[in-house]
Amino acid sequence: SKEIKVALAGNPNSGKTTAFNAITGARQHVGNYPGITVDKKEGFTTVGDNKIHLIDLPGTYSLTAYTMEEIVARNVVADQRPDVVIDVLNAGALERNLYLAIQLMEMGAPIVLALNMMDEANKQGMKIDLNKLSELLGVPVVETVARTGEGIPNLMEATVKCAAESQGKKWEPISISYGPDLDPALDKMISLIEQNNLLTDRYPARWTAIKYFESDDEIMQLGREAHPVSAELEEIVKNVAKHLESTLATYPEAVIADYRYGYITSIIRQGVVTRLDEAADRV
Ligand code: GDP
Ligand code: MG
Repeated sequence: SKEIKVALAGNPNSGKTTAFNAITGARQHVGNYPGITVDKKEGFTTVGDNKIHLIDLPGTYSLTAYTMEEIVARNVVADQRPDVVIDVLNAGALERNLYLAIQLMEMGAPIVLALNMMDEANKQGMKIDLNKLSELLGVPVVETVARTGEGIPNLMEATVKCAAESQGKKWEPISISYGPDLDPALDKMISLIEQNNLLTDRYPARWTAIKYFESDDEIMQLGREAHPVSAELEEIVKNVAKHLESTLATYPEAVIADYRYGYITSIIRQGVVTRLDEAADRV
C-alpha cells in the first residue's frame, strides 16, 4: 500500500517531541530547512501494512508570518499536502491549544487531534468529553499520554482511518464567521481571489483573504507578485481597518483573534470540559 504522509503540529511544550519519539522510535533523522535554522525532523513507522512518513513541524501557537517557525509550519502543510495533520494539544490548556487547530482546519487540512497530557488533566480534576469535542469540531479526537505511550496506538489507528477517508478528496476548509465588519469584505475578497486564481493552487481563498486582514507580509508579497488584483484586496482591507478604528477603536487582527476564541469558547462551553470540583458543586 501507499505511504501515508503525516505532519505533526502543536504548540510548544504540548508534548510533540515526546509523541514523535513514541511514534517513530529510532526510525528518525534530523536535517534542516534550507537557509534557516529550523530543524527538519522526519521519521517512519508502520501501522498494519501502512507505511507512515511523519514530518515534525516546528512548535507554534499560530500560523501567521510573525515567526520563521510559523512560516515553516504552514508552508509544509500548504506545499507538501500531508494526508493527515496530527495536532498535539496540551489537554490542560485546551482553549489556547485549539487556536492552532482551527487555523489548520481553516487551511482545510484533514486533522486528528491528540489530546495529550491527559494524565495531568485528570490529576487536575478535568473531565473532557472527547466524543462531544470530536462531534462539535468535526474531527477525530484521541486521548494520549505521550510520556508513557498510552493512546499512541489509538492515535495511529485514527490517523490511518482519517487518511483513508480523505484520500482523493479535495481539502475542505472550515469557515468561521469574523463578524459584521469583516464577513462582507471577506466575501468580496474571496470572489476577487477566485476570479483571478490568486494563490489558489496553494491556499483556500478565504484563508488568503484572512491573511490580508492579518497584514501577513509573506502572503501579501506573494499576492503582489502573482496578480494586480492584490492591490484591490489591500484597498478593501484598508477601508475596513479605517472603519474599525473609527467606530470600535480596534483593528482587524484583534477582531480575528476575538472571533477565533469566541468560536472555541462556544464549543468548550457546550459541556466539553467539566471540572470535577464544579460537578461536585452542582450536586
Ligand atoms: P514539545 O515542546 O511539544 O516538543 O514538548 P516535549 O515533548 O518536549 O514535552 C514537554 C514536557 O512534557 C517534557 O518534560 C515531557 O516529558 C512532558 N510530557 C510530554 N507528554 C506528556 C504527557 O502525556 N504527560 C505528562 N505528564 N508529561 C508529558
Ligand atoms: Mg519539541
